[in-house]
Amino acid sequence: MSGQLAITVLGATGSIGLSTLDVVSRNSDRYRVFALTANRDVDRLFEQCLTYRPRFAVLADVDAAHDLRHRLHDKAPDIEVLGGPEALISIAGMDEVDCVMAGIVGAAGLMPTLEAVRTGKRVLLANKEALVMSGALFMQQVQVGGAVLLPVDSEHNAIFQCMPHTYVPGSGQPDGVEKILLTASGGPFRTMMPDQLCGVTPAQACAHPNWDMGRKISVDSATMMNKGLEVIEAYWLFSLPESRLQVMIHPQSIVHSMVQYRDGSVLAQMGNPDMRTPIAHSLAWPERIDAGVDALDMLKVGRLDFDAPDTQRFPCLRLAREVLCAGGTAPAVLNAANEIAVQAFLDEHIAFTTIPEVIESTLEKVSLHAADSIEVILEDDTQARACASGIIASLQGRRMYS
Ligand code: NAD
Ligand code: MG
Repeated sequence: MSGQLAITVLGATGSIGLSTLDVVSRNSDRYRVFALTANRDVDRLFEQCLTYRPRFAVLADVDAAHDLRHRLHDKAPDIEVLGGPEALISIAGMDEVDCVMAGIVGAAGLMPTLEAVRTGKRVLLANKEALVMSGALFMQQVQVGGAVLLPVDSEHNAIFQCMPHTYVPGSGQPDGVEKILLTASGGPFRTMMPDQLCGVTPAQACAHPNWDMGRKISVDSATMMNKGLEVIEAYWLFSLPESRLQVMIHPQSIVHSMVQYRDGSVLAQMGNPDMRTPIAHSLAWPERIDAGVDALDMLKVGRLDFDAPDTQRFPCLRLAREVLCAGGTAPAVLNAANEIAVQAFLDEHIAFTTIPEVIESTLEKVSLHAADSIEVILEDDTQARACASGIIASLQGRRMYS
């Protein structure tokens, strides 16, 4: 490899951002940090700026950007600080950038990630919500922009590793592949009795048994909406029909997913559950670099279990499959309603089991459209947020007065 790759880390202060910077530090001969971004976590971004000395630091929150500029003024005046959602988009598409880690959580990541794709970067995709919202348009832009799209989500990264060696995501149906077997840990409530699910707390939902992640994705794992979003993500990345994307519960999170071939072979990618492995893979692909992750000790693991998912207990998985089949803006509406419902659960405004109810009611109420422009997608996202918020408000009203 010649020269260092200039990398922009979108969502640098989050779980994916921290793991990315850890891998980058271990391989500083290969990568240099061009830009770091966050929502409003000034303290953490300030520390990261002093450590990684990026050319730019960007905060979505303008006041937070002002604060950071002030704090960096004496310590690192060479770092340019920008603020606002527009700055996030422009930083993702700058000519000097080779590689973008899309590590923002939720719909907020859509426009910066699309910009990275549109401008032909090497895009490391953790922000699955962006792809779920805009699937066809997103993949079209990958082709038009000439981007290299590499999945970071551990399952999709595993699937990519098990694909024929010439295959890249977005290049159509892979030869000889019969099925994708998407594994799921089952989350913290896998074995809980259904009547107890109603009373679980945000802290319990965020205590994932195998992975240490941000709060939104942790709740998504607990409802299994995360696996639903991942089915949609796999559909767009690997071009297999929904009926050939099978979900399996695998509580140990050692097999990160599998690919079943026509000849009866099933290839699996395994490893300790640590996001630095898929991050390192996507950073260096097709080469391999140190990720700081211990080798898997199969003797310690001992056994691997697999089971069918319970869609009665976890209706989010069914809802995600339904919106994938419905097409158009249905996945964007599901995603928006989910983001609102998850936040309401984290704020202790609704029960855990109300999350799928809010999503299903929103899907019934919001008019869906063909997802043929980003404006239509964003408009239906806005409608869905308003609708889901209204449903939650009416539920709270009912609780208050009953
Ligand atoms: P996190 O909450 O830990 O971090 C989110 C990052 O996004 C933070 O840097 C935050 O400042 C930034 N952000 C949040 N809202 C923003 C906004 N409105 N504008 C700009 N920036 C904003 O989340 P995470 O766990 O790191 O997840 C990030 C993404 O990666 C998600 O889409 C998630 O589904 C995906 N992912 C995460 C993991 C994991 O292990 N954490 C695994 C697979 C996929
Ligand atoms: Mg995943």
